[in-house]
Amino acid sequence: MGLLSSVFKKNVSEAPQKPAAPAKAADVVQKVETTNKEVKPVVDKISVGYTHLSGCTGCTVALADNYGGLLTLLDRYVDLKYHLTLADVRHIQKVDVAIVEGSVCIQDKLAVEEIKETREKAAIVVALGGCACYGNITRFSRGGQQNQPAHESYLPIGDLIKVDVYIPGCAPTPQMIRNVCVMAYLLLKGTKEQKELATKFLTPLMNMAAKGTSACFCELMTEVINQGLCMGCGSCAAACPVRAITMEFGKPNGERDLCIKCGACYSQCPRGFFNTDVVSEYEAINEAIMAALQ
Ligand code: SF4
Ligand code: SF4
Repeated sequence: MGLLSSVFKKNVSEAPQKPAAPAKAADVVQKVETTNKEVKPVVDKISVGYTHLSGCTGCTVALADNYGGLLTLLDRYVDLKYHLTLADVRHIQKVDVAIVEGSVCIQDKLAVEEIKETREKAAIVVALGGCACYGNITRFSRGGQQNQPAHESYLPIGDLIKVDVYIPGCAPTPQMIRNVCVMAYLLLKGTKEQKELATKFLTPLMNMAAKGTSACFCELMTEVINQGLCMGCGSCAAACPVRAITMEFGKPNGERDLCIKCGACYSQCPRGFFNTDVVSEYEAINEAIMAALQ
């Protein structure tokens, strides 16, 4: 702005002496063009909706915790069509990608209608967080809450509709949500190479969705520990609400008799989705994401 006004000032002050001043006018046009080039053109964004059902709202907090990264997403890649709080628009619309937070209370007719409408109007449905993927803490509801005493049955969204992608975690990390949004963009709008990278990144998350809505310690055993992917972080033990998992010699050990199959451990494990396919392409995937967010 300062550069432009100084150019204009110079032209005005010089105008009486050199009325034609074609070279100066060209300078101004050039400067304006240069300035316009600095403004990032609006790219062909993907449309995203956000359906918010029953849970603790931690996933929305995790999304917002991207801070500047969220603004970059909204500025360049994502047109957020509806969201209860971030967009203040609740009406479900036709979108490329619908992200769903929380499980569905089947005594709440509006929630059941909302999840069905979400599926009908979205090309890709993403279950965000443990409640949407596996039920998680909402599996423990027994009803009797003061405002909704009849609300006692909560199901993961995959029990009512087809889900395409899971983003597990309670809550998922802000980076994971951001990365999935970038990869969804590259899958839909990217070059051939970007589409291939996005496919590699998203495939484990698609496979999780295809496997269904129930998970327990057995999934950790067969898909993580037995595959040599466990790094002994202890997140599974910390997530288990009935203390069925203890860390022994740096690895989790599950008491199957105690397990109530809530899926919280599997949902929380960072290696359940970050498997060998992704690890082998990690640098290229990371570079693509970082380049998109610069
Ligand atoms: S081990 Fe614990 S966290 Fe995992 S499914 Fe069983 S009860 Fe849930
Ligand atoms: S959360 Fe996953 S990686 Fe961490 S200790 Fe449990 S099984 Fe291993």
